[in-house]
Amino acid sequence: MKEFDYIIIGGGCAGLSLAYELEINKKLKDKTLAIIEPREEYKKDKTWSFWKVTPHNFDECVKKSWENFSINIPNKTNYLECNNYPYQSVDSGLFYKKINNKLKENKNINFFKDLKEIDSKNSFIFNSVPSIKKNYSNLWQHFCGVEIETQNNFFDDGILNLMDFDCDQRGSIHFFYTLPYSKNKALVETTWLSKMNDVSQKDYDKQIKDYIENHLNLKGYKITYKEIGAIPLFYPVYEEAKNKINIGTAGGMTRLSTGYTFLNIQEHSKYIRENIENISKTRKYEISKKYQFMDEIFLRVLEKHPEMMPNIFFKMFKSSPKTSIKFLSNKSNFLEDLSIILKMPKWTFIKALFN
Ligand SMILES: Cc1cc2nc3c(=O)[nH]c(=O)nc-3n(C[C@H](O)[C@H](O)[C@H](O)COP(=O)(O)OP(=O)(O)OC[C@H]3O[C@@H](n4cnc5c(N)ncnc54)[C@H](O)[C@@H]3O)c2cc1C
Repeated sequence: MKEFDYIIIGGGCAGLSLAYELEINKKLKDKTLAIIEPREEYKKDKTWSFWKVTPHNFDECVKKSWENFSINIPNKTNYLECNNYPYQSVDSGLFYKKINNKLKENKNINFFKDLKEIDSKNSFIFNSVPSIKKNYSNLWQHFCGVEIETQNNFFDDGILNLMDFDCDQRGSIHFFYTLPYSKNKALVETTWLSKMNDVSQKDYDKQIKDYIENHLNLKGYKITYKEIGAIPLFYPVYEEAKNKINIGTAGGMTRLSTGYTFLNIQEHSKYIRENIENISKTRKYEISKKYQFMDEIFLRVLEKHPEMMPNIFFKMFKSSPKTSIKFLSNKSNFLEDLSIILKMPKWTFIKALFN
């Protein structure tokens, strides 16, 4: 069986981002790479959105970029700017196409469906397949989004709606998220932060229909695409091994307070590429411990007091959108962290700290 210098298990967002980063920086000229990916074909299956706080390799795959966003709680709306860090949506279909076209040019890169097809004992492995037990007592961000097309112009495509909490909370945290790609096309998503064991939250189609028709007051539209997903708001099991690094969701690249992962995956890929020659001895890349600590407390509050969350997000963004974006994208400094902490309901967070 054939041997490879490197193996990437899982050719999804993290696996392909890493392969691309290595390839465009000429790290695979004299090295071989096997990518293990069971899917039969690549097609659009996700939309990755984030605040662009750092450059990335996929500007051509950006479907839309916004410099304004809004957040709603019942009877109140915040209109906010993000021109320093535009909010971007990457189309996974364009992303897969761009990367696969590039990787095809290098004969040292080969795709396989199963790890058993190759000899992996002497390879360095980058693993993006998480070991997640279906633990429904943990918190998840679960959601369903539809792309819709309207008969007439309807949306203001200059502003996205990040969180609309003016909806049925059902004792959890629930909001709608609307990304207007143009005046007659948008992604509308229902999002829950909860334990997933409550099946009553899974009537996604009904929630979306009701929101579009009765909240947005939009009647003439058709659904052109649908995505359903769940992001674990806990770290998957990470088995340490000398010849293996976990990447992507499996590698702890998700910010637990938000579910944002895409840009962390890009930064991790860059870190691996910079250290590839000495990778088995390189320090593990992590989301900074201060964010891990603050997110843990935040999630404790979220679990105990879901009813407080809409106000917490609303006030945090209102006081300084720029600082909030930097904080949620792992780019805040000490004073910015402090200003966020001071906006939180202090006693609730102090109690959660000692819980
Ligand atoms: C629907 C959805 C929308 C999301 N939107 C956002 C967003 O807007 N912003 C953001 O920052 N994050 C978002 N995320 C979170 C995160 O960015 C994505 O989940 C991202 O795809 C994670 O990359 P990954 O490589 O870890 O996992 P994946 O992209 O899921 O890749 C894993 C790959 O492993 C393959 N695989 C599975 N089993 C095996 C096996 N046994 N052997 C080999 N390969 C296997 C799969 O086919 C897949 O291609 C979203 C997640 C989902 C599910």
